[in-house]
Amino acid sequence: MNTRIVFSEKCLGYGGFHIEGPQRVKIAHEVLKEKGYEFLEPEAASEEDLLRVHDHEYIWNLKKGLVEDPDTPAYENIYEFARLSAGGALLAAKVNGFSLTRPPGHHAGRSGAALGVYTRGFCYVNNIAVAVKALGKQALILDVDGHHGNGTQEIFQGDEKVTYVSLHRFPHYPGTGLASEGNCLNFPLPADCGEGVFLETLDRALGMVDLGNVEVVAVSAGFDTHKGDLASLGLTEKSYGKIGFRIRALRKPAFFVLEGGYKGEQNGNDIDQLLRGFEGRP
Ligand SMILES: [Zn+2]
Repeated sequence: MNTRIVFSEKCLGYGGFHIEGPQRVKIAHEVLKEKGYEFLEPEAASEEDLLRVHDHEYIWNLKKGLVEDPDTPAYENIYEFARLSAGGALLAAKVNGFSLTRPPGHHAGRSGAALGVYTRGFCYVNNIAVAVKALGKQALILDVDGHHGNGTQEIFQGDEKVTYVSLHRFPHYPGTGLASEGNCLNFPLPADCGEGVFLETLDRALGMVDLGNVEVVAVSAGFDTHKGDLASLGLTEKSYGKIGFRIRALRKPAFFVLEGGYKGEQNGNDIDQLLRGFEGRP
């Protein structure tokens, strides 16, 4: 195995009772450690890194703990946790690794809630956007989380360097992503559509991307599409291996950033399968 996992114990230090809680990452870390993966410790992203994606006022409010909505609490020191998670994405981008950190990011738009959605869906800083902006390369952002990444779409809408592809459950939170718009290709799928429909759609979606204009693939890796999880599309552990294999087939450098997925042990096994498929390991 050559994909290293970016992880810090520090990201377990907030939010005990929320569904986006430490266990989802803590147990996934234990599963991956048991399987022999190598881990790297991230450093927090700088304010400059965040400001390539978010506006000054939003970052100022986040720092002051003034950013709260019904889904997304203003935990003490949440700015520091969010900076570290963004730093995880930056390191993953640098080493073509997998960032196993929290909070997630793809619902966070330029100034908070994105595309007219009322909440930030457990997100504070758009981690994958921070990493893609820092790289400055032509990127395909492939979002396989079960929710539409409205924040990522808002940030990169009209950006000539980036193609955003999202497969997500619809109708479902956040309610965006029904149709494609320019460089943002959206594939809404019915609840529990199953692996066959998901993979057919993924193949169709990837077939629409001009790979000649892609230098790096950034994967918003969410696992809430797993059967029974928050945005279930009826996928199983093995489905993630097949997704990984399709990312491998693009033959581009890639990195992965954790988004959703709310059952720790399941996340660990799903990540392992995704990386096995990606690396061509049995
Ligand atoms: Zn999600």
